[in-house]
Amino acid sequence: MDPIWLGLLLPVAAGSGWFVARHRNDARGKGGTGLPAPTAYFKSLNFLLTEQHDKALDVLLQALEQHDEDLEIQLALGGLFRRRGEIERATQLHQGLIARVGLSPEHKGQVLFELANDYYKAGLLDRSENLLLEAAGRKELLEPSLHLLIQIYESEKEWKNAIGVAVRLDKLAEGNLRVVIAQYHCELAEREVGAGNYPLAQAEVADALALDPSCARARILEGRLQAISGNHRDAIVSWSGLVGEHPEMLCEVVHLVKASSNALGSLSLFRGFLDQAIAATEDERLKLMLVDHLAADGSKEEAEKVLLNLVNEAASLPGLHRLLQFRALDTADSRIRADYELLRHVTGKLLEDRAGYECRFCGLQGRSLHWQCPGCRSWNTTSARLFSATLN
Ligand SMILES: [Zn+2]
Repeated sequence: MDPIWLGLLLPVAAGSGWFVARHRNDARGKGGTGLPAPTAYFKSLNFLLTEQHDKALDVLLQALEQHDEDLEIQLALGGLFRRRGEIERATQLHQGLIARVGLSPEHKGQVLFELANDYYKAGLLDRSENLLLEAAGRKELLEPSLHLLIQIYESEKEWKNAIGVAVRLDKLAEGNLRVVIAQYHCELAEREVGAGNYPLAQAEVADALALDPSCARARILEGRLQAISGNHRDAIVSWSGLVGEHPEMLCEVVHLVKASSNALGSLSLFRGFLDQAIAATEDERLKLMLVDHLAADGSKEEAEKVLLNLVNEAASLPGLHRLLQFRALDTADSRIRADYELLRHVTGKLLEDRAGYECRFCGLQGRSLHWQCPGCRSWNTTSARLFSATLN
């Protein structure tokens, strides 16, 4: 059972026991023998067991009217309203509590925290932030307040504030937020790149890598900044650094490596990267890049050999899709070409279902790579679906 229901039922159960005992005594005193009617506790429990939460709550609310001085019960009620989406009702309840005279500092902190949660759910982030900064002054509310503040700063894209809060939380959580703080620095770095402030972007990337040396995003950004300043060879070295720890990201940088290799006038650099990447991952998307590279370089036979191996050995659907394209272009017979095109239409449709990205934490699928999943808000949990398929 949801703990919040227990929080509401227990006081009612206690009240019901008192009620039962009192009525039994009254009945004996009057010489009666009848048992009391079902109590609110049993009624609400019954509703809960049959998943009728609304009815259970109505019964409890009536029973709890006699407990309106009990702060713990009122807080539990407010929390329940919020979880049911009744934000205005929760807010009114908590505002009423905060106006009470003689509230202890401990209780005031609790109510402030609950009210901050109401405002957060209502989208009133500034108000929520102010209350959380106040609530964080109490030791027992510091950690939950910092957690909610981080969510606010993330949704507002206030990355510097997010870093400040996460560093405090990281000390409490013994260093398990370093990977997330590195992502905040990457967010700032991308903002600086967009504004053309490259030295500031470099400083943010360096901070990210100091916190999380295996941060793929920071490594990609490092390479981008080197390429922007014309150091294409260093850029390729940075991107090649993903081979060991982040093979799933190699396909995200392959076009960048190609552009830098072109800038250096050295196609062999790109070929070297592809060979290294394919040896590390067997990612069929990279093999198709090699096929394209060979075909563009005039090595059509070698390209077809790689493609046939891919289809034969790995039963690769993307490989078959490309092979059908090759065959359609090769044939002079219009009927055979039409057949190839038809088959290619089918493989294309099948590939559409496998394209895009997926969060391995919540399963959310999307068309583009997100460093923070838009569904579950986790960092570094999204990767290409075709890469996962290759691994399977
Ligand atoms: Zn997710």
